[in-house]
Amino acid sequence: MAELETFREATRAWLEENCPSGARGPGPIPNGSTKIEITDTDTRVWLERMIEKGWTVPSWPTEYGGGGLSKDEYLVLLEEMRRLSARPPLWSFGTSMIGPTLLELGSEPQKSTHLPRIARAEVEWCQGYSEPGSGSDLASLRTRAEDRGDHFVINGQKTWTSGAHNADWMFILVRTDPDAPKHEGISFLLLPMDQPGVTVKPIRLISGDSPFNETFFDNAIAQKADLVGELNKGWTVGKRLLQHERSGIEALVSGSTADAESGLVRAAKRSLGEASGRISDAAYRDQVLAYEMNNHVFRLAQRRAVEESDGGTPGPVTSIFKVYGSELQQTYYDLMTKIRGVQGFGAGRDGFDEADLETTRQWLFYRASSIYSGSNEIQRNIIAKRVLGLPD
Ligand SMILES: Cc1cc2nc3c(=O)[nH]c(=O)nc-3n(C[C@H](O)[C@H](O)[C@H](O)COP(=O)(O)OP(=O)(O)OC[C@H]3O[C@@H](n4cnc5c(N)ncnc54)[C@H](O)[C@@H]3O)c2cc1C
Repeated sequence: MAELETFREATRAWLEENCPSGARGPGPIPNGSTKIEITDTDTRVWLERMIEKGWTVPSWPTEYGGGGLSKDEYLVLLEEMRRLSARPPLWSFGTSMIGPTLLELGSEPQKSTHLPRIARAEVEWCQGYSEPGSGSDLASLRTRAEDRGDHFVINGQKTWTSGAHNADWMFILVRTDPDAPKHEGISFLLLPMDQPGVTVKPIRLISGDSPFNETFFDNAIAQKADLVGELNKGWTVGKRLLQHERSGIEALVSGSTADAESGLVRAAKRSLGEASGRISDAAYRDQVLAYEMNNHVFRLAQRRAVEESDGGTPGPVTSIFKVYGSELQQTYYDLMTKIRGVQGFGAGRDGFDEADLETTRQWLFYRASSIYSGSNEIQRNIIAKRVLGLPD
């Protein structure tokens, strides 16, 4: 206990000295892509300092670039970061999805090759799961990988591939045995994106953004050494990765969960007025309070689940996090837009400032949170079967 207190004091002092003011509160969070330049100085300095400490991935072993922190030390670090509203220095598909999966299920060469690069923010990954016709029924996927001795040759198509245009590597589910029952003929591969056999075509949204892509494979190559787990046993690896993705545990580190007054309360006071330190409008005050309490309880439940699972990512219970977390996000942005009145529904430029437009963009974006990473209907099926043990 005394050791933990010493760690807390040292951590607090180090953070106060090393977390630049521009890395506190909302702002950019790098993802490690070699194709994206970090233009904000404080964000870059914060990242560099945290890499040096191994605190971009605090609980990973030091030999893979992590901080080697115990579960208790990790939680102390998160608390101390929240105290300063320090942003996570790095958030990527590497830190939140493929990294934890390789730590559990990767070979030693896979770990020593890929994990340090993720920890040092030298790479970003994308997720090649969904295909046209294979979303919720993911195991029906048809992208083929043929075994050619020391490598696989891949042909087919993925879709909705978030960030593929900026990614350096992809983790991909492929069919390696077309004659086996559908869950048993799938393998999990790692694939460099910068090769002639991979073509990325942006899917343009009505807003003009292209956050995701169609990805085509035309004799693309993945090395045999980049097969994770056993041949035709990739479904197990793929499912475990989804649990890391759905856990939302990285949110525990987010500056937005700071104990100080939340962005929603501040926005409500600004838009609706403030009386005696409280939001003036009683009806909205109730709704904002209900959101704040539910959000706090949710974070505590997540933290308890992490503690009970020895600091790692829990199993099927992550589907509960996914459903409740995504509904909370949607409630947050529903309230954010409503409290702004007509300013909360900015679509064009005229009459709306950047904050109005950003609120609308976020509100629209989070409509998707109950779809991506497996829709909430599918999560409810998993909760019914795997958590509650209800019959099919
Ligand atoms: C913003 C965003 C980012 C994404 N990023 C990625 C990515 O990076 N990589 C990737 O591989 N994929 C990605 N996806 C794809 C995502 O995983 C799929 O959209 C999702 O799994 C649903 O599949 P689908 O779109 O094919 O819908 P469908 O599977 O066609 O489902 C349509 C509707 O039917 C419901 N439904 C289907 N089956 C059942 C069932 N058995 N019981 C009850 N209801 C059911 C679904 O809940 C849904 O409401 C992303 C999606 C979005 C929106």
